[in-house]
Amino acid sequence: MARYELRRIFLDRGVVGNPVADGILSKAGGIPVTMVNGIQEATRRLSSFEDSIGEGKHSLLITRQKGEFVKKCPGTHNRICCRYYIINLVVNCPIDCSYCILQGYLNNPAITIYVNIDDLFAQMEEKLSSNSGRIFRLGTGELGDSLAFDEMTHFSTIMVPFFSNKENGIFELKTKTEEVGNLLDLDHRGKTVISWSVNPEKVVEEEELNASTLARRLDAARKCQQRGYHIGLHFDPLIYCPEWERDYREVIEKVFEKIDGKGIIWVSLGGFRFPPYLKPIIGNRFPASKILLGELFPGNDGKLRYLKSIRVGMYREIVRWLREYEPSLFIYLCMESREVWEKVFGWSPKDNKALDNLFAHRVRSFTPMSQ
Ligand code: SF4
Repeated sequence: MARYELRRIFLDRGVVGNPVADGILSKAGGIPVTMVNGIQEATRRLSSFEDSIGEGKHSLLITRQKGEFVKKCPGTHNRICCRYYIINLVVNCPIDCSYCILQGYLNNPAITIYVNIDDLFAQMEEKLSSNSGRIFRLGTGELGDSLAFDEMTHFSTIMVPFFSNKENGIFELKTKTEEVGNLLDLDHRGKTVISWSVNPEKVVEEEELNASTLARRLDAARKCQQRGYHIGLHFDPLIYCPEWERDYREVIEKVFEKIDGKGIIWVSLGGFRFPPYLKPIIGNRFPASKILLGELFPGNDGKLRYLKSIRVGMYREIVRWLREYEPSLFIYLCMESREVWEKVFGWSPKDNKALDNLFAHRVRSFTPMSQ
């Protein structure tokens, strides 16, 4: 937490006296707290800053989730999707990746922490019981970093025990940090996966501001693996540059120096992609970024990506290098077409459900589930 500079906390009047909000405030030290009437007021106050997105990363909003906590990952048009569920518990994060899609996606720039945990539990129970024959994968790391504020929220200490006795749900925390202190002594019973997004140190330094170095992420992963957690890895976004082969090979070497490949439950690969509206935001906020230097072309879902031949070439090589270390790895592509799957692996899932079934099979081989 110390690495993130918090300048203000907005406290929604509607959650005054909420015990989770009180717990967070008790760790706020001298950070000024301003009472607000809902998200709109916090947004309005931040909109007066020239870089409201940047300022939002120094601002916490503690409020109530009035919508759905648990949502299906929207995936993207015409691509294979893995039927993942997103838990909207903390939205936005203090890490400032140049490529972060949230910069153009969220209306409210503050890091928003929802504290009506009883509603969260009810919705998660409802989702899991909606189909007891299916293994649901759910995670908090799609709209923010799962662990960046864990020292302050202690959310991992309620989520991990919640899932520890669930028979058809596996929970994923996804992070670019080393903030695993709260996790190490939890009784997780194999129902939580802790995943790290990985990239070459050069990319971390230039494009992932405020994130932990790759070396520190992997040290944290090692600690978690020693405590019996399953580890996930996300090579996403893969960044193309003339030295990409050397750089990603080095990442893979470092991964296997620290982590036992047999304990890696899944690995995703996803090439850099973004909707066109993000381009001017990246240009304004990160003028020194090299991320837009590659040639990027619009796909049929409207997002810009590297040429298919470049993506396929990167995926194939990375799969090959990963399998040199651990042939049994479960590797999947994020937001890619069947054609790309075929070119990379020589096969593709028939549809989204088929991919979901493969995940279920993988989860069962790691953790006893009732199905
Ligand atoms: S860690 Fe994830 S959510 Fe946070 S800025 Fe980077 S890409 Fe965005």
